[in-house]
Amino acid sequence: MSAAQNRAHFTPRLMDLGLSGDRPLVIVDVDEVLGQFVRSFERYLAIHGVEFRVERYALFQNMFRKGEAKPIPEAEGRPLYDDFFRTCCESIEPTPGAFEALERLAQRAEIIVLSNAPGEVEAARRAWLTRHGVQHPLIINRGLKGPITAGLTAQTPHRSAFIDDTLPHLDSVAEQAPATARFQHIADVRLRPLAPTSDRHRRIDDWDELAAAIEESLLA
Ligand SMILES: [Mg+2]
Repeated sequence: MSAAQNRAHFTPRLMDLGLSGDRPLVIVDVDEVLGQFVRSFERYLAIHGVEFRVERYALFQNMFRKGEAKPIPEAEGRPLYDDFFRTCCESIEPTPGAFEALERLAQRAEIIVLSNAPGEVEAARRAWLTRHGVQHPLIINRGLKGPITAGLTAQTPHRSAFIDDTLPHLDSVAEQAPATARFQHIADVRLRPLAPTSDRHRRIDDWDELAAAIEESLLA
């Protein structure tokens, strides 16, 4: 088992992440939240002769060879996805307003970046954050994010918030860490109307508005 797979079952101590636990905790995703993953991935795919057609809120089902009506099989798409993370994930453009919002939130909360990404991407993802002025701890997770969020938030008596684009992660947090405020954010403007939402979580696609709502949830 690789170190990355190991992490799926391991909740780090806040202390080991350099956090005190004496302020509220904000746990935030990268792809389609802090960063515009899809825009970058589609540029990478184009170089490899594959079109990303924004037709539904999906990944592999949106990948087509030029002129073809059927998406490429996932067995062909997944190696491209893995290779993108291995070679190009530092090219992801930040979501407008996202890092400014993190800076604002860091004045009253401790922040953890929690990302599910394939392969050994930790160093590249950390370099990306550093390049954009973000020094908050990064955890590369496998599987649903509820268990690790529950493990992290249990280490502080303060309020917490969780931000992700993906409903299964938000639902998992609702089940495993129900006291944590949950926000759904979709970075890509083309995907916004296609993304499924749920009454269980607040959906806010504008980072200014999102930061204000997170602050409010941490104070309430
Ligand atoms: Mg994401």
